[in-house]
Amino acid sequence: MLDVLIIGSGPAGLSAAVYAKRANLSVSVIEKVYSGTGQVAESNQVDNYLGLAGMNGYDLGEKFRQHAVSLGVEFKDGEAVQFTSENGNWKVALKNGDVLESRTVIYAAGAVHRHAGVEGEETFAGKGVSYCATCDGAFFKGKKTVVVGGGDTALDDALYLSDLCETVYLVHRRKEFRGSAHTVEKLRDKSNVEFVLEAKPHKINGETKVTELVLEDGRSLSVDGIFIAVGMIPMTDPVSGVVELDPGGYIIADETGRTTAPGFFAAGDVRTKQLRQIVTAVSDGANAITSAEQYIRL
Ligand code: NAP
Repeated sequence: MLDVLIIGSGPAGLSAAVYAKRANLSVSVIEKVYSGTGQVAESNQVDNYLGLAGMNGYDLGEKFRQHAVSLGVEFKDGEAVQFTSENGNWKVALKNGDVLESRTVIYAAGAVHRHAGVEGEETFAGKGVSYCATCDGAFFKGKKTVVVGGGDTALDDALYLSDLCETVYLVHRRKEFRGSAHTVEKLRDKSNVEFVLEAKPHKINGETKVTELVLEDGRSLSVDGIFIAVGMIPMTDPVSGVVELDPGGYIIADETGRTTAPGFFAAGDVRTKQLRQIVTAVSDGANAITSAEQYIRL
């Protein structure tokens, strides 16, 4: 029986793994994506992680992982699908049928990209529609693209694409942006970025690849690529019914990571919180281990 089973190998899970090893707890990390580091890997440039301004997200994720590996953390590929509490311990069933036992669980499974629900979005996924500008932006060098959304991801994506693309349209359904005012200012200074505000996407057209985004008000944008950045969906399906979730599907937990289920802790983007960033995910991982230690030593 393990002391701690961590679900997810993003910054929250890796930070928890490092803290677990340093606390001399037996620990294993279950990861859905082999050798993954979570969403951080998609970020071209991380400018707000203390002391490492301008670091490439993929490299930062690798540094996090190497730290855990250097301490001897064990990783196991798999998808955790069922969590059962028995006599204060946890049984975690993986999709491949394996069952792992642990005194505590730290659930740090993160979140996935939300789809905008635009006609043609699924048809053209991978054929001009993308959810990751830093992964796919290079395919649109010198071309026209549109970013949909008004949060930090959309703003960062538009900024990144503005250095690659001929034109970047930023389509947002409101007048005010949800994301950083500082990034909005940077975008205003870019001659090839055009704000299209109070506009909702309606339909994506094309033959084999995207050629046009039609807006609800009838306007049409001729583009080669559409980057959808309309938020995230927490990966909490396997734990619904196990712990209490908020209306958005996030696990209700404060910074201690404690959930409504004893011995089950949430860390990173999956939990209710004000700010979902690398720095808060890393902090959550550390806090969750402190809570797990207290639970184990009770
Ligand atoms: P977000 O903050 O939830 O923003 C989602 C955006 O998409 C909002 O502007 C929303 O519009 C819009 N939207 C939602 N559904 C839509 C739909 N169906 N059609 C059109 N527009 C839609 O998500 P995010 O930008 O992915 O950011 C998630 C978290 O990560 C945030 O806390 C963010 O600060 C953080 N983050 C930080 C950084 C950074 O600091 N560099 C980078 C990326 C993300 P409304 O505004 O009208 O609701």
